[in-house]
Amino acid sequence: MPEVFVGLGANLGEPAVQLRGAVQALAALPHTEVKKVSTFYRSSAIGPAGQPDYCNAVAQLDTAMAPEPLLDALLAIEDAASRVRGERWGARLLDLDLLLYGQMVCSTARLTLPHPELAFRDFVLWPLIEIAPEVQVPLLGRARDLLDKLPTPALSEWI
Ligand code: AMP
Repeated sequence: MPEVFVGLGANLGEPAVQLRGAVQALAALPHTEVKKVSTFYRSSAIGPAGQPDYCNAVAQLDTAMAPEPLLDALLAIEDAASRVRGERWGARLLDLDLLLYGQMVCSTARLTLPHPELAFRDFVLWPLIEIAPEVQVPLLGRARDLLDKLPTPALSEWI
């Protein structure tokens, strides 16, 4: 099976609670096992000032789901998290990204692999390397080397 990695993020509601719920939802997907989950990290929000910090993590899956059905499942988990909380902020309650699906490279209207922002986000690369120190990003090389090209990450453990 390919090594599949999903990025998890939330900065509204109770971020760590939403991330834990998302990990449970991933584990409940058909033909899917959650192999590893990184530490939950705190990172500053990108974009307009004054936003709450993000809680970020990466999970590694063993899955027989194909990439597009898996993406659909991630979007359904995001939607369910928003509905449960009943708030109007939608996806920011929970953001799930398909980071890597083995060494697959694709770019369709719905799905880009590897995830296009992966190489620029320390809050994704750091937890990814924590659970997969030698992981290779197709076309770009080792995740560890991509992280080395970024400024020193300002992440702390989410407590
Ligand atoms: P965002 O809310 O910014 O994460 O964007 C979600 C949209 O990005 C979805 O509607 C997907 O169709 C699209 N997308 C493209 N590639 C990916 C990917 N690798 N992981 C997650 N979403 C993706």
